[in-house]
Amino acid sequence: MTIAANLGYPRIGPRRELKSALEAFWAGTTAEADLHATAAALRAGARAVQQGCGISHLPSADFALYDHVLETACAFGLIPPGYGWSGDGPASLATVFALARGARGSAAERAAGIPAGAVALEMTKWFDTNYHYMVPRLSAAMRPRLLDNRWVRALREGLQHGTRTRPVLLGPVSLLLLSKAEDGSRPLDLLPALLPAYADALRFLAEAGAVWVQVDEPCLVTDLPPGAVEAYRTAFRALADAAPGLHLLLATYFEGLRDNLGLAASLPVAGLHLDLARAPDQLDAALLALPRDRWLSLGVVDGRNVWRTDLRAALAQLRTAEVAGFGRRLMVAPSCSLLHVPHSLAMETALDPALKRRLAFATEKLKEVATLARALDEGERAVAAVFEESDRALAEERADARLNDPAVATRLAAATPAMEQRRSPYPRRAEAQAARLGLPELPVTSIGSWPQTDEVRKLRARLARGEFDQARYDAEMRRLTAEAVRWQEEIGVDVPVHGEFERNDMVKYFAERLAGYAFTRHGWVQSYGSRCVAPPIIWADVSRPAPMTVRWSAYAQSLTNKPMKGMLTGPVTMLQWSFERTDIPRETVCRQIALAIRDEVSDLEAAGIPIVQIDEPAFREGLPLRQADRADYLRWAVACFRLSASVVRDETQIHTHMCYSEFNDIMESVAAMDADVISIETARSDMDLLEAFAVFDYPNEIGPGVWDIHSPRVPSTEEMIRLAARAARRIPRRRLWLNPDCGCKTRGWAEVKPAMANLVAAARRLRAEAV
Ligand code: GLN
Ligand code: ZN
Repeated sequence: MTIAANLGYPRIGPRRELKSALEAFWAGTTAEADLHATAAALRAGARAVQQGCGISHLPSADFALYDHVLETACAFGLIPPGYGWSGDGPASLATVFALARGARGSAAERAAGIPAGAVALEMTKWFDTNYHYMVPRLSAAMRPRLLDNRWVRALREGLQHGTRTRPVLLGPVSLLLLSKAEDGSRPLDLLPALLPAYADALRFLAEAGAVWVQVDEPCLVTDLPPGAVEAYRTAFRALADAAPGLHLLLATYFEGLRDNLGLAASLPVAGLHLDLARAPDQLDAALLALPRDRWLSLGVVDGRNVWRTDLRAALAQLRTAEVAGFGRRLMVAPSCSLLHVPHSLAMETALDPALKRRLAFATEKLKEVATLARALDEGERAVAAVFEESDRALAEERADARLNDPAVATRLAAATPAMEQRRSPYPRRAEAQAARLGLPELPVTSIGSWPQTDEVRKLRARLARGEFDQARYDAEMRRLTAEAVRWQEEIGVDVPVHGEFERNDMVKYFAERLAGYAFTRHGWVQSYGSRCVAPPIIWADVSRPAPMTVRWSAYAQSLTNKPMKGMLTGPVTMLQWSFERTDIPRETVCRQIALAIRDEVSDLEAAGIPIVQIDEPAFREGLPLRQADRADYLRWAVACFRLSASVVRDETQIHTHMCYSEFNDIMESVAAMDADVISIETARSDMDLLEAFAVFDYPNEIGPGVWDIHSPRVPSTEEMIRLAARAARRIPRRRLWLNPDCGCKTRGWAEVKPAMANLVAAARRLRAEAV
């Protein structure tokens, strides 16, 4: 019988129950037991939903209070010193949260012996998703062992409720490859010591009654570093030997296996999971490579996007596998964990009904999985009604005239390469801009947003509740803007901003003003820890019916003689942080957005705004996982940015902003974006990232962040001078700007005001020293 399986379920809860429980616990208003009770209830709910959908292989231990990578590292004793862990026994919750969030000065931390200065582990994107994991910090001296048998616990929890789940383990090679060694050793060096701990985990699982265990090795879809192939062979030999009766399902996702297919197919496991949503083409090669005694798990339902599956096409793929001889050992599954999609469509009562019929969130996707399994076993007729519904939705979509806007198509077709080109090269523009702007050396600016205080949020809530009309709300926003502009003038910021008080979110604000976007009410997806995002859905051609920001920037400009910087979100980020339509290429969707942003840039310029910043914080995360695919992405991503920016005259200055520091591999593309000024995150890495600029001579102006706004402390003038001086060794002073390293919306005024004053003082001192 075909097995309907799931790889992982959303953890945050249909109503973000986990978020509320975590935040209450951190605030000290609830006890650890309350948090665990909420977590257990969420897991029970998840089991009920999945079973109700007809799934027979239910994942367990896919749940994590904060992050599954962190919890896996802690379970195996990969815990750096300085977080109150004694060296034996499981890590306390206080230790886990200190690793995740840094010390917060709580009584629980003191009781657990966590030093006040403990900083959070580095956090980074989970592959090319918008989920962030905590990067385990390793050293050669670590002695891995199984400290916390979270997998057996999860298995038992299911068994107590009559369900034999399939525990999910992040595999040992991926765990190490996703970690960082801090002592010069290589993460994979720890593998021999780590394998016995994994072997223990599997042995205990077998003893506790597990039949299948899912071992996630997503790194198998990436370009493997030296030593990894051998590591995989060694690791899986050890895992297979540890518990010979256990069935291991090797799960890969987010890309095709490509050159690692032979390796994956040769590992001694009972089954292999493939992502056929991202890489449908890998099926044929896999059918040839995989021994016939293996199980094949086919991820035909897209776990990364929100669209309904074309059931007939998916069934055809499954039948190919059946014909090739895997008929009796076939699993149907989502392409990857459903962590990356919202829980259920059921609560979306405000969506356009036609659009809603085309969507599938986690619950609906699992029903599709079960339907496909049944279609294989009992024939399509057994599920005819569901297939017909799928057909109808697809037909309706193809016939929906609202998807295609002829005006957008015409404009796109008429877009020329010249539109991606500023009128003059940077040096000429720089002259024109210098003449117009009259800025001092080392100009001081910010990234755009000022604190989104309680006051701002309350005003927005009152508008949403209808206690305010739009006019009253706008008046309040203007007041906040005016106050912010006055303050920036007073302290001597050279390029002020209006403050973005009117924006809820840098993507949603624009999406709400563009045609082609739709919004969910409860479509929350975990971003990290208790943080969630509700990505808007791009479902139709995108265009800009009317100006989106001009009145705010123009108002702010009217209050000052300093050059006001207009703030926009760039096309790549608008695409990357949305669920996107898949009936046309991503590049086309991005170009549509780029043209809409271009209109806004043009209107800002016409309104007298001399500087426009187009933020692209998600530019790098769009980078494909495989080196071989990157050039194409970078080509169109750069082109889209340039299409949005290049409409302006020489004397209008274009800025961009990116929130990360790994520039080495994309430096040339960043330069090719040809922004006049780029601001980047550097404060945390102590300007290390500027090494990239030593190798590649960035040709335009640059503002390396000299204040790490992610940490709640106010840097001194001296500190900022020191960082700026380091930057000045790599970048000529006349091309250097001074700014914080990201927007200040999450900070309070109590930190922002003194920090910005220190920043201005740093600029003045550096200017004075130079003469
Ligand atoms: N302009 C945005 C802000 O200042 C940029 C945010 C970001 O970099 N993510 O908030
Ligand atoms: Zn940023």
